[in-house]
Amino acid sequence: MRQLLVVGNWKMNGSRASINSLLDGLLSGPAVAGTEVAVCPTYVHLPQVLALCAASAMTVGAQDCSHMQSGAYTGEVAPGMLAELGCRWVILGHSERRQYHGESDALVAAKVAVAIEAGLQPIVCVGETREQREAGEAQRVVSAQLKGALQGQASLNALVVAYEPVWAIGTGLTATPEQAQEMHECIRACLESIDGADAQATRLLYGGSVKADNAAQLFAQPDIDGALVGGAALQAADFKAIIAAAAA
Ligand code: PEP
Repeated sequence: MRQLLVVGNWKMNGSRASINSLLDGLLSGPAVAGTEVAVCPTYVHLPQVLALCAASAMTVGAQDCSHMQSGAYTGEVAPGMLAELGCRWVILGHSERRQYHGESDALVAAKVAVAIEAGLQPIVCVGETREQREAGEAQRVVSAQLKGALQGQASLNALVVAYEPVWAIGTGLTATPEQAQEMHECIRACLESIDGADAQATRLLYGGSVKADNAAQLFAQPDIDGALVGGAALQAADFKAIIAAAAA
């Protein structure tokens, strides 16, 4: 039985004041039993968020990390630094990193390896573009990204995979529950070929314009084990409604 996981990716948003108020809203009221919840702020907001979440069940992650553990990499943040701070998760291979920073599957694989070594749990993102889906290439592209990003990993033990079709991120378009389930089944089959022992236990999140009104249908699919949420994670009421849908 896989416990549902709902992760908020706050991207490059927030100020100290807005984060205080967002977390005030998120942490007020009873915690929802049975669903794991995490938030991923910018690097600079991590200490604030970790302190505010310390007494709660909410866990915290970063949105990226370096592919190296230390050294002359100006501007980078090592996974060990994130782990030392108290982060549990790190999002890797997000399509915005691939698109704006030219991240390749090989670089994502190097990040996955050092993140696991540092004790973090990577949330590895994969997803096809609209053109690739229209060309009937979606499953081939996503399987290749996954195999590339997990190159060298013999065990899936510490990993979460997020399927985020690029055409659904921040666009208001969502994969239908059937489209998402079909891809999640394909991802699980791909994971089976990497580590048959852990593939069934690995959580597969869906991401791409998840909202309160589509979350329940997505979570009802057998291979959708939660969500990676962007825009709707920035409003406490919206994010809480998605968490509630996971717990229903
Ligand atoms: C994301 O970028 O991870 C994401 C899923 O964004 P949104 O929910 O805004 O589509």
